[in-house]
Amino acid sequence: MSEYLSTKYKNLVPYVPGEQPRDKKYIKLNTNESPFQASNNVSLDDAINNIMLYSDPTCLSLRKKIADIFKIDIDEIMFSNGSDEMLNFAFMAYTDNMTPAVFPDITYGFYKVFSNVNNTPYIEIPLKDDLSIDINDYININRTIFIANPNAPTGLALSLSDIEKIVKTNPKNIVVIDEAYVDFGSESVVPLIKKYDNLLVIGTFSKSRSMAGARLGYAIASKKIINDLNTLRYSLNPYNINSLTMSLALNVLENNDKVMDNVKKIIENRNYLTDELKKLGFSTIDSKTNFVFTKTDKISGKDLYQELKNRGVLVRHFDIERIKDYVRITIGTKDELDTLIKKIKEIIEV
Ligand code: PMP
Repeated sequence: MSEYLSTKYKNLVPYVPGEQPRDKKYIKLNTNESPFQASNNVSLDDAINNIMLYSDPTCLSLRKKIADIFKIDIDEIMFSNGSDEMLNFAFMAYTDNMTPAVFPDITYGFYKVFSNVNNTPYIEIPLKDDLSIDINDYININRTIFIANPNAPTGLALSLSDIEKIVKTNPKNIVVIDEAYVDFGSESVVPLIKKYDNLLVIGTFSKSRSMAGARLGYAIASKKIINDLNTLRYSLNPYNINSLTMSLALNVLENNDKVMDNVKKIIENRNYLTDELKKLGFSTIDSKTNFVFTKTDKISGKDLYQELKNRGVLVRHFDIERIKDYVRITIGTKDELDTLIKKIKEIIEV
């Protein structure tokens, strides 16, 4: 840290993204990307030919397309550079000393970082022993609530009716539902935005839509919430979505069958991996996502992560007391999972 850095960032602990190594080729099962392509032979020629022009700051064609799909109004959606950017807008807009952020103690690690970078307090609510969320902890709490549904890294999901109870009993506060993994087996709460002004749903093109490298996230909410978030976006970076990403995203939305097909394969592979891990004595949380959270008595989470890495397979381990026994494994192709299983056998059956 230089002596010039503002004191307000002196103690900032940044988010640590999963490893993205370039030194050698790994089987990469550590950052919940899709192993499959979603866009079919998309041509980016138009976007490239016009790259000297700024991108459309309103993302109009994309908004129209997604409004159709989600059956919402075009004023009820906006886009961001990855959903991380939208989450930050939400922390900026809706948390302060009067209304701290509230989220589970085990959840997406960036929530804590966004609170810190925005210098707003947060409260972590412990998950139950089985790592599920107790919705009673979120009823009538008068705080800005952030819930990843399904949650990461556990993979567990709340039902739509449970989320509705939380939204309904906190009418004076924003409830942010981060639906990064919703397409892999849980129910989206997007339809509830018509009923509740305080619900903000955040989604991403990084997971089921296979566009992690293009960076595209979105918010769906009542017009006045979208207005707030746009005020922040226009105050920071109006051209936050580049034209190449817009073209790619339009193509992916037009080929939704391919996305659905990929999702189906990922769910099949998730079931396959869960069964194989069970045969090896692992206990795996019932996942509604494109990853599993699993542990065994035979080896610590940290050692399993390291041994797999030594053998060219990357998974994710979190050095957090409550979940240190686990590793999080992204669902890859069947071949990748077979290699993973083979390596796990080598490691634990010595
Ligand atoms: N929310 C959750 C729960 C996530 O796991 C991730 C991915 N790391 C994100 C949001 C952010 O995804 P992106 O910025 O790629 O849209």
